[in-house]
Amino acid sequence: MNTELPENDRVDAFFTSLDRSLFLNDDYKELALRDRPLPIGQGQTISQPSLVCQMTKQLQINRESKVLEIGTGSGYQTAFLAELAATVYTVERIADLSIQAQDRLAKLGYSNVYFKIGDGSEGWSEFAPYDRIMVTAGAQSLPGPLVEQLKPGGRMLIPVGEPARQELLLVQKDGEGVVSVEALDRVIFVELKGEYGWQNSSK
Ligand code: SAM
Repeated sequence: MNTELPENDRVDAFFTSLDRSLFLNDDYKELALRDRPLPIGQGQTISQPSLVCQMTKQLQINRESKVLEIGTGSGYQTAFLAELAATVYTVERIADLSIQAQDRLAKLGYSNVYFKIGDGSEGWSEFAPYDRIMVTAGAQSLPGPLVEQLKPGGRMLIPVGEPARQELLLVQKDGEGVVSVEALDRVIFVELKGEYGWQNSSK
């Protein structure tokens, strides 16, 4: 990771300023400062802050970036994207989670985030292509529509692997549209469900 990028300073500064407890239910607010995933209801989790920072830095977002996020969840990661990018399109399959996140992001004053309730494994073709794509749920394999919706020169982060353990993949598309994939880290995310995700698993 290039720690010299000025965008990384913005990520660190924002991390320090953002109160993670705003994204947690009352039962878990007092654990907000712990660097660990926590439940957000509906069997889903908010990631540990260090991983959110790491993934945000890896995406190399700038103020002109149009970002697609799959898995809005609590909206914590969305806030990082909204702070750094021009516009964020975020998709969540569980309506209650999306509605809570919409409320949180509005209270924080973000007006550059567009929310969709639906199957994010299909992406959000209406507003494609995207400079950056952040997937915060573990896929079985690389979803074709997300690769298609990545702009030439774009970067996508996506966990891919088994339900219990995935590799965090950096997918890059060069100016000619050639796609390369690099494994960055071992991670554990809840499953990416849907047409291009896990279809029959119970988790
Ligand atoms: N980034 C989130 C945060 O900061 O709170 C945490 C995301 S949580 C690990 C994964 C989320 O992906 C869950 O909210 C889950 O409902 C959602 N999800 C799983 N499959 C999805 C799909 N096909 N489309 C949209 N969201 C999906």
